[in-house]
Formats: sequence, C-alpha cells, structure tokens
Amino acid sequence: ANINLLSEIKLAKDLNVQGIGLYRTEFPFLVRSNLPSEEEQYLVYKRLCDEMGDLEVTIRTLDIGGEKLLPYLEGTKEANPELGLRSIRFSLHHREVFLQQLRAILRAGAGIGKLKIVFPMISAIDEFRQARHAVEEAMVDLARKKLPFHPSPALGAMIELPAVLDIIHELAKEADFFSIGTNDLIQYLLAVDRTNERVAAYYQPYHPSVLRSLHRIIQAAVTAEIEVTVCGEMGHEPEFMPFFIGAGLRTFSVDPHFLRSVQEKIVNISVSQATAYAQALLAEPTLEGIQALIRSQKGRKTAD
Ligand code: PEP
Ligand code: MG
Repeated sequence: ANINLLSEIKLAKDLNVQGIGLYRTEFPFLVRSNLPSEEEQYLVYKRLCDEMGDLEVTIRTLDIGGEKLLPYLEGTKEANPELGLRSIRFSLHHREVFLQQLRAILRAGAGIGKLKIVFPMISAIDEFRQARHAVEEAMVDLARKKLPFHPSPALGAMIELPAVLDIIHELAKEADFFSIGTNDLIQYLLAVDRTNERVAAYYQPYHPSVLRSLHRIIQAAVTAEIEVTVCGEMGHEPEFMPFFIGAGLRTFSVDPHFLRSVQEKIVNISVSQATAYAQALLAEPTLEGIQALIRSQKGRKTAD
C-alpha cells in the first residue's frame, strides 16, 4: 500500500496488504508551523513500523517542493517549483534536516524485519551515492550516541525522472530496489504539469515513450535482480495492469482504496497473454495505435 497518513494503515491491513511500498513522509512537515524534530519524526515512523509488525515498510525521504511547499522555510518560493530545489535536492542541500530524518527512520526501524528507504527524484548515480553516504553518516551518529537502529536498510531510488533512463542499468547495480513514480515520470517525460487542468489531455500514460520507458526500467531491475515496484497512480488503473505484468512487473503499491480492485484484477490476468499484449503495445509508435490496442483488450475482457 501507499500510505500518506497513519490512519490509512488499518484499511491496508484489513485488506491483507503485504507491506508498505511507499510511505510519504511529507505530512508531518506540512501540518506544522516549523520543522518536526527528530524525536517527533521518530514517534511517527515508529508507530508505522510497530503497526506493520513483520511486514516490510518502505519509507520515502522528504519529497518537499513542487506543489508541497514548507511556508516556514524562507526562500523556498520559486518561479518554477516543479523544476526547483525540491525533493532529494532539498534534502542534500539542507543536510542537517536530511540527517535528522534519516536518524529518525533508522531508529524507528530498529528490530523490524525489512526496512526500506527510498530517495525521491534521483537524477544521477552520483546523487544516489550522496544520499547513501548520508545514511551511513546517520548510522555513525547513532552508533556514537549508542542508540539502537536498523543496521542494514535496503536503499532504493524512485525512478521518476527521464534523466536516469540512459543510466538505468548502472543505477540498478547501485540501488537495492527501484520504485517507479509514474506520476512524476509522465509529467517530466511529456512536459505536462500533473496538476494543471488545462493540459490534462496531454498527460498521456499510454504515450509510447512512457510505455517503452517503463519497460526499460522494469527490465533493468529484472536483469540486475533487484526488486521493482510501481507506486504511481498508473499502477492501479485496470487498463494498464496487464501491460505492467506483461512487461515483467510483479509488485504494485497502491492507495489502500484501490487494493481490493487491484487484487481482483490481478488474479484474472494470464501472464502469457499479458506478455503478448505488452509486446504489441511496445511495438506500436503512435498514440492512436496504442489507444486502439487498449480498446481491443478491454473489448476482449468484456466479451469473456
Ligand atoms: C509518483 O511520482 O508517481 C509518486 C508515487 O510520488 P508522488 O505522487 O508523491 O510524487
Ligand atoms: Mg513523485
């Protein structure tokens, strides 16, 4: 499940979720009038980890900026915030805020089975390494303070910038897992503001470059034998699930409200049919051709 608020965990667990694929940490930062302390963050993340028990928990580091501004931080107003000092750039720029968050996450994960930390908006291998070094520094800090912490979290990259597509195989060798953020990947691939109604028609998940990029990302992860999850909105849309399965994806993380429909849809997908369908979609270079293929797939299901 994708979780924004701790109150959503219950629904996810009631629906037999296998883990948290994305916990967005922005909320405690957005609802306060100043930065939450390490202790305040620790308590939130600890509750998340405690409630999930033995199930895996993936915590995303602060994805602030863009439309999610922190009004109490001066100088954050930007003319073009989606292209600004957001997300991992913000964290690496405000290193003490980043280290505080990492210490809180590592402490909260002490003793749990599988803790995963994912960095948003990774644009380069170098940036991923910087983020990983920050985790190592946070561990050294905690060890010095003799505080318990998770010693070996899996460290992953959100794949949501076109910049990493041409280095995706090398990135797959560095990261422990990929989490595909289709919401931003589509926005940045197609140059369409995901919140702007006026250009909503240009936000095309079925664009051939989107589908081919997704296939490349999934296959890079499969080749490197690392886990890959899709956690953007596209992952719960019934018309794209056969494509994802056919492209090799096996893990979906969705808003708890979509869990049931995704579970119901997935059990009816045949892997061999999905593979042939994905291949047909990937071979098609036009929007029109892809839409026709999607319509015929939907028609087939209805006829069944
Ligand atoms: C995404 O970009 O697809 C994603 C999952 O992250 P967010 O929607 O929080 O940017
Ligand atoms: Mg995103």
